[in-house]
Amino acid sequence: MVKETKLYEALGVDPACSDNDLKKAYRKLALKYHPDKTGGQTSEKFQEISHAYDVLSDSQKRHVYDQYGEAGLSGEGGPGGMGGLSPEDLFSHFFGGGMGGSGRGGRSSGPRRGKDVAHGLKVSLEDLYKGKTSKLALQKNEICDKCEGRGGKEGAVKTCTTCNGQGYRVMLRQMGPMMQQIQQPCADCRGEGEIINQKDKCKHCNGKKVTSVRKVLEVHIDRGMKDGRKIVFSGEGDQAPGTVPGDVIIILEQKEHERFRRSGDDLFFNAKIDLVTALAGGKILIPHLDDRVLVVDILPGEVIKPGELKAVMGQGMPTERHHDFGNLYVQFEIDFPNANWTDPTQIELLRSILPPAAALPEPPKTAVVEEVNLTEMDPRQRARAEQGHFGDDDDDENGGHGPGVQCAQQ
Ligand SMILES: [Zn+2]
Ligand SMILES: [Zn+2]
Repeated sequence: MVKETKLYEALGVDPACSDNDLKKAYRKLALKYHPDKTGGQTSEKFQEISHAYDVLSDSQKRHVYDQYGEAGLSGEGGPGGMGGLSPEDLFSHFFGGGMGGSGRGGRSSGPRRGKDVAHGLKVSLEDLYKGKTSKLALQKNEICDKCEGRGGKEGAVKTCTTCNGQGYRVMLRQMGPMMQQIQQPCADCRGEGEIINQKDKCKHCNGKKVTSVRKVLEVHIDRGMKDGRKIVFSGEGDQAPGTVPGDVIIILEQKEHERFRRSGDDLFFNAKIDLVTALAGGKILIPHLDDRVLVVDILPGEVIKPGELKAVMGQGMPTERHHDFGNLYVQFEIDFPNANWTDPTQIELLRSILPPAAALPEPPKTAVVEEVNLTEMDPRQRARAEQGHFGDDDDDENGGHGPGVQCAQQ
C-alpha cells in the first residue's frame, strides 16, 4: 500500500500504473494546461502535474513517495519538495524543446554565460625568445554605469506582460504523431522581456544597458611560449545584464623568421660556407634572437659535407616551464667555387692534397666504349632539362626510356 495518492491523483492515474501510463497521462495534461494554452500564466494545475510527474517519473523518488508520502521528499528539493526542474524546464525536457531555443529565461543551471572571444596576436620569434608584454586594444560591451544596466530610470523598466518577461513565446506544433514546442521571440518587447518608454530610456546607453568601451589588455608573452598558445583573460568578454561574461582568449601566432626555423624548443639555422671553410675550417657567425652573435668554430680538417647537420647544444629556444633551452641545429650548405680552374699546377696541387678518386669500374668486355663531353646548356636547354628532372613522368617528349646503354650505342 502506498502512503499517499495525491500525486497519482494529480495525473489521474492509479498508484500501480506503469512508467508508460505516467508518461501518457503527463503528456495529455501538460499539453492541456501549458501556459501557452491558458493565456501565458503558469497555472497551479500545470505546476501540480509537473511536480507530480517530476517525482513519479524518477523511480527513486517514486519509491520514497510511496513509502513516506510528500514528507519523505522534502529533504531533497527544498520547500514543497519541488525537484531540480521548473515546470517549464520539465516540459522542455519531456517534449524535447530546443528548436529555436535561445537559452534565456529561468534556467536551473545558473546564469547564462556570455560568448568567449578569440583574437590572434602575431609575435616575432625574438619576442618569444626574450619574453614581452604586448598591449592589445579591444572594443567590448560593458554594463552601462549611468543606469547600472537597467536601461532606464529606476522603476521605469516594466516586465513585458505578453511573454511574462521571458522574451520569447512557446508555441506548440503538431508534427505527425509528435507534439513539438518551438520558441519564437516576443514581438511586443523584441525579445527583451521588458519594455521601457522612450522618454525614460537611459540617455547614456539609449536603453541598451551596455556601452561599447575601448579596453587595453596587457598580454604577457612568456619566454618560450609556442605558436598557437592560448592566453585567457577570464571574464573579459562582453558584459550583458544577467549573464556571466565570457573570456577573451588571445592566441599567439608566431611570425616567420628570416634566419631561424623553430621546431618545438629547437632552432634550425642554414649556414652557407665556402668549400675552403668546409675543408680547412673557419668560423661562422649566427646572430641570435637576443643581442648576442654566436661565433661557431669549424675545426680545420673536420670536413663538412653538403647538407650535414651539427648541433650547438643549449642554444635553442627557452623552454616555457623548465627554464631550460632547446638546441640550435646548424645545417650546412657548401658554396663550391665557381671558377674554371685551368691552371694545371693548381689542379695537380689539389690532387696531391685531396684523397685519391675512387677507381673506375671496368666496362663489360662486350661494351663499345665511346667518349662523350659534358657541355654547358643555354637557358632554354636548361629549363627543358630541369623540367625532365623535376617534372612529372607522363611527359615523354624528351626520351622517356632514359640514358641507358642502348642510347649510347646509337
Ligand atoms: Zn544606461
Ligand atoms: Zn515580451
